[in-house]
Amino acid sequence: MSTDGRNQSARLFARARKILPGGVDSPVRAFSAVGGAPPFIRRGRGARIEDEDGRSYVDFVMSWGPLIHGHAPAGLTRALAAAAKHGTSFGAPTAAEVELGTAVRQLMPSLERVRFVNSGTEATMSALRLARAATGRDRVVKFAGCYHGHGDAFLVQAGSGATTLGVPTSPGVPRSVAADTLVARYNDLGSVERILRRQRDRVAALVVEPVAGNMGVVLPEEGFLEGLRALCDAHGAMLVFDEVISGFRAAPGGAQERFGVRPDLTCLGKIIGGGLPVGAYGGRRDLMEQVAPAGPVYQAGTLSGNPLAMAAGAWALSKLTPALYARLDTLGARLATGLADAAREAGIDLQVNRLGSVLTPFFTAAPVHDYEGATVADTAAYARFFRGMLARGVYPPPSQFEGWFLSAAHTRRDVDEAVAAARATLAGMRRRRPRAAGGR
Ligand SMILES: *Cc1c(COP(=O)(O)O)cnc(C)c1O
Repeated sequence: MSTDGRNQSARLFARARKILPGGVDSPVRAFSAVGGAPPFIRRGRGARIEDEDGRSYVDFVMSWGPLIHGHAPAGLTRALAAAAKHGTSFGAPTAAEVELGTAVRQLMPSLERVRFVNSGTEATMSALRLARAATGRDRVVKFAGCYHGHGDAFLVQAGSGATTLGVPTSPGVPRSVAADTLVARYNDLGSVERILRRQRDRVAALVVEPVAGNMGVVLPEEGFLEGLRALCDAHGAMLVFDEVISGFRAAPGGAQERFGVRPDLTCLGKIIGGGLPVGAYGGRRDLMEQVAPAGPVYQAGTLSGNPLAMAAGAWALSKLTPALYARLDTLGARLATGLADAAREAGIDLQVNRLGSVLTPFFTAAPVHDYEGATVADTAAYARFFRGMLARGVYPPPSQFEGWFLSAAHTRRDVDEAVAAARATLAGMRRRRPRAAGGR
């Protein structure tokens, strides 16, 4: 990528690094995992984005999932303009909150009550507080490779050796907090059961992405989610589905509808805000009625339920038709098959995991069922692939361990363009040097 004076993105990135840590407001945007400077995006329309140098890309990041209807759909911008005319924030109750809340409960009946917040991170932090309050227990079980935002309790990995207590994955997370987080293996009920047995009556909640999206897409195996439900019931722990990605993506009613498992609490984000900053948590009425002011569990937000954000969310949810999911599934299958075929033709190992309109091509020969399987993927190969795609006008996620998202705005032509770019890129990658036989 050119970095001369005419490259607006490169110039902006240099300026950004002097004011924002790493030049960004969220780490993955800096392209550290794939190399090169990130294009600065100045506009998006439908399935395409355009950078500050006038280059256009077919977008498969889609703001990391929220934009199921594409960039700047006319109905959404109209709804936003109409809402903005009446004021952008009141810090007082509005009809828009009741409307979006009602729409959420219609789509996801397990959310008998819902509380709006401003991000997925806030949703998971708040749901965990509620689960702890409701059970009188402190500990939480999460899964290696699942991401639940940047709250302290979730920035934890499995401790080494005999200890099952978690250790922080970031400086600044107190060890005392991390010690209350236990880490199990995705798709491994035995690992969950062992923890729950050993932690007898100390686990408040089991928090899981019912479809994992943050180690790349990893689907729950047959019986896994049902097994988690049964284990939670047996051990008196709350089952918390983090559906920040899968909510309104896996199905109109999220993964809980798609797989028929009812959690106690659900965390939402991304699609629920239609591209504006919205999160939510909700679930069983008896639990949610413990949240202030109905109950004693404190949680608040100056901009929570913001009228612009509620208007965007209500518009987005109102457009989730069965026909949309059928179309997205067809497009997703076309993209997954196209990528897999292109890799096979190039003699490159690739596993494509997909659920409907979200997928991840893993550069590895073995099927990916969990974090260990995901992390053996060849990230250097992904980085080369990514740069080749970007140069060909396709914008995939700048990391191996993320989902590619399709939207209502993507067409067969967009997908075919991406597959053609993949075929050209992968064919170029085949000419890598064979590994030295003797090793080093
Ligand atoms: C994105 C994400 C979050 C965090 O949401 P933010 O809005 O980025 O705070 C939490 N959980 C999952 C599963 C996510 O994908």
